Amino acid sequence: MRIWPLDSIKNGILTTGFPKRKNETISPWSTIPEKFGQEDVYCPADAISPEGVNLKKCISCGLCSKSYEPSLRTDNYILQRQEPRLRKSFKIFTVDSGSCGACNTELMAIANPLYDVSRLGIFFTNTPKQADAIVIMGIYNEKMEPVIKAAIEAMSKPSVVILLGACPLSGNILGKGIEAMVDPDLIIGGCPPDPFVIIEALEKVRGKL
Ligand code: SF4
Ligand code: SF4
Repeated sequence: MRIWPLDSIKNGILTTGFPKRKNETISPWSTIPEKFGQEDVYCPADAISPEGVNLKKCISCGLCSKSYEPSLRTDNYILQRQEPRLRKSFKIFTVDSGSCGACNTELMAIANPLYDVSRLGIFFTNTPKQADAIVIMGIYNEKMEPVIKAAIEAMSKPSVVILLGACPLSGNILGKGIEAMVDPDLIIGGCPPDPFVIIEALEKVRGKL
């Protein structure tokens, strides 16, 4: 395990160079598992099929570890559209439609001194009117539907819609997803997603990668 404060003392560097510098560690089970064995394994999220592991359904539980192992890749996301007009500055507004809180924590982590996405021109804002991107977390619920739609409507254009984590993509193991309701530009898998995955996906959607 890597202990960042000790690394900083030893190397004199705190902030990651990712995505420019690629050789960073990533939390293993937040990446899509890849098959290495032949056995059938139990998947509580029904994410495994003959085609492989469904990014939208995988909840990063690791129960398939007899036959699957984490891919350790950072491309655990699907980009539907890019918006290169947002290359210079990118402000994010977040909406929680009913999450466990872990996706929020990982997303907020990208602003801490280790990841420091302000160096890439990415910032958070508390109002959709100033936002270039809306990041939605959590499962579908009726009462949040008008709130999410109003927030998207309030954003100036161009803007992008992002779904973060297995909850809004598939409803996780408890509920219903919200993908059909919002037509996202970017979806990011994981339960929760790793900050490196989030950073790479954000850079992709704004046309910087
Ligand atoms: S990590 Fe869990 S949810 Fe994902 S494929 Fe394996 S068993 Fe299924
Ligand atoms: S995707 Fe997983 S980590 Fe994210 S809110 Fe849902 S249950 Fe929590």
